[in-house]
Amino acid sequence: MELWFSEFHSKYAKFSIKVKEELYNKKSDFQHVVIMDTFEFGRVLVLDGFLMVTEKDEFIYHDMIVHVPMAVNPDVKRVLVIGAGDGGTIRELCRYPTIEHIDMVEIDPMVVEACRQHLPRTACSLDDPRVNIYFEDGLKYVRRKQNEYDLILVDSTDPFGPGEGLFTREFYGNCYKALNDRGILVNQHESTFYDEYVDKMSHVQHMLKEIFPKVNVYQAHIPTYPSGHWLFGYASKHFDPIKDLQADRWNGLGIKTKYYNTELHLGCFALPNYVKELLSRNE
Ligand code: SAM
Repeated sequence: MELWFSEFHSKYAKFSIKVKEELYNKKSDFQHVVIMDTFEFGRVLVLDGFLMVTEKDEFIYHDMIVHVPMAVNPDVKRVLVIGAGDGGTIRELCRYPTIEHIDMVEIDPMVVEACRQHLPRTACSLDDPRVNIYFEDGLKYVRRKQNEYDLILVDSTDPFGPGEGLFTREFYGNCYKALNDRGILVNQHESTFYDEYVDKMSHVQHMLKEIFPKVNVYQAHIPTYPSGHWLFGYASKHFDPIKDLQADRWNGLGIKTKYYNTELHLGCFALPNYVKELLSRNE
């Protein structure tokens, strides 16, 4: 009997992958947590029926959410990561010896439990002595913070369910407050290919531009996310992501990456016209 996992990428388009075996399947207080082993993408994490992480293409997402801001400000010492329960973002941050302190705020301990058990390649740095894990809502956590971080990475689920509050003016305003005067915020910024989140994400762009002086969007090719064309939001109080790129300094760190490089850094901020038009709708 053939077993396939399918995810609706829009109301009328489905993405399916053939499954070898199910490794984990539990319901937490927040979401349905499943880990499967698949023929094409290796082990995959699925939350509430949505593909979050696959062993085959997670390197792209985790390279791009971490190394783009780190190449703009290699002096980052204190980082706040919201979500990130699979640990891939933490793994990439821990490759920087200059980073001194990482607070990871993940609402669902069951995601961390499942990934520690079945996704060791992404969860491998969760016990790094610099990492402090708080199991709570990132929206509430950030209310208490002031001028504390150089970098905030919002590695969240989609803008509904537990992740909904992480796409609000309150949240971004509190992130601004939690960052110091050279702070950078990067968030997973969905896609504009399907209609699903276009309106939401153009509102996010509008909100970020009202709060931060420098706001950009960059892109990456992530095969298992809806349409494969994925976006990241970049906002900063100080650094321009292209003019302030410190390519020589970053390359001098000798961090080997499978996807990110400093030429691609310059290219990924050059968006297609239809994406620019859709994101500027609510300006
Ligand atoms: N890279 C994936 C992506 O782009 O979709 C997401 C990685 S990670 C699995 C997303 C995490 O965000 C999940 O573990 C989820 O529990 C967590 N999360 C969702 N809402 C949250 C909230 N309000 N506060 C903290 N963590 C949250």
